[in-house]
Amino acid sequence: MKELNMKNFEDFGLSPALAQALAHMKYTIPTPIQAQAIPLALAGHDIMGTAQTGTGKTAAFAIPLIEKLLSNPTGSALVLTPTRELGKQIMDIMHQLLGPKSPIKTAFIIGGEPMGKQLSQLQARPRLIVGTPGRINDHLERGSMMLRETHFLVLDETDRMLDMGFTIQLEKIFKFLPAERQTLMFSATLPKNILKLSEKYMNNPQRIAVGETNVVAQNIKQDVIRIEQDQKYKELMQQLYDRSGSVIVFVKTKFGADRMATNLRRDGFTSEALHGDLRQTKRDKVMQNFRKQNFRILIATDIAARGLDVPHIEHVVNYDLPQVAEDFIHRMGRTARAGAQGSAISFVSQQDGRKWHAIERLLNPDAPSASHPPRNGGDKSRKKPARFARTDKNSKPQSSGKKRFYRDNKKAA
Ligand code: AMP
Repeated sequence: MKELNMKNFEDFGLSPALAQALAHMKYTIPTPIQAQAIPLALAGHDIMGTAQTGTGKTAAFAIPLIEKLLSNPTGSALVLTPTRELGKQIMDIMHQLLGPKSPIKTAFIIGGEPMGKQLSQLQARPRLIVGTPGRINDHLERGSMMLRETHFLVLDETDRMLDMGFTIQLEKIFKFLPAERQTLMFSATLPKNILKLSEKYMNNPQRIAVGETNVVAQNIKQDVIRIEQDQKYKELMQQLYDRSGSVIVFVKTKFGADRMATNLRRDGFTSEALHGDLRQTKRDKVMQNFRKQNFRILIATDIAARGLDVPHIEHVVNYDLPQVAEDFIHRMGRTARAGAQGSAISFVSQQDGRKWHAIERLLNPDAPSASHPPRNGGDKSRKKPARFARTDKNSKPQSSGKKRFYRDNKKAA
């Protein structure tokens, strides 16, 4: 892996325009997943890739995709993604890689947005379409989108697309695509239904993987707080006072997200909620303001926050544990992006026993019985490559003298 990592983007022999865009983006050394995926994809192979979030997965498929578009006068590419936010991030990277003066037209086809703009993007004969399966199907069925010339297909976060019930939509989309095509499939996990999909729709895919997919990035400091349900909010406030930097707090329900954002604002923090019931324009605005650090605390549900890449998120708080253990890993992937440091706090109440046990089993399958974090502090030093170092906490957090400085001073967005 190390030697691969030493590789430079110049070694891939990319088109000058793409090389220039990469230099502009300050991408000089490929991440491990990029070092593996880019040469295989440029050579025309199908790829079945597993990688932790934050590993540079987007550029791993975006770079060969753009190279194919630049080096062929015809043909187009389609990227399927589970959520609108993830789609937007992918589109942003694509536009950066294409550069501001590119003649290659793009279309962004996601649900919850007016049809008009999408129809005019599609009429302009885009060579790159990024979108969510539901809306793409709508266009295919009404004849406003053609995929006959689409020889490059990417499925990103495939496990999540299947979890969200997009299997039938994906099957329908495949019917519109030419059989002769290159397919890149990325997924955080590889359950049976994904393997079945890849057998059916891929041509001798090359398997690539970076790290173990059940491992939380090593540069995240983890804290577990055993707490009663009714004490959580108070503890959250304390934690927010004692930490600096941007925070994402995960909660179970959309209603809970709204309520918590309101309560935190009432208590002097800058906070906004992100969940699937918000109108698209509102979701975009919330994300834009969070990226600009116009507010500090984002309260999110799992689906809305999946795959979000906001480099400055320093802390993830699991206020409610996720319903699905795998989502714990995705949540952790929101912090410590691209090698930065991050921290995570998980509130574990008595009712959470089963969920917590499932998370521990996923993170540490070899442990004999890991259902209870130690009462008197865990391995804070993390000298060993522990998959899930824990620090328990029964009392108050340290350093509350810093309170004043950590309180938000920006106006609520
Ligand atoms: P991703 O896993 O695709 O969401 O990427 C995580 C973050 O790493 C994003 O902020 C990317 O812009 C950044 N990134 C990806 N590849 C590179 C690279 N080769 N050099 C520097 N930063 C990168």
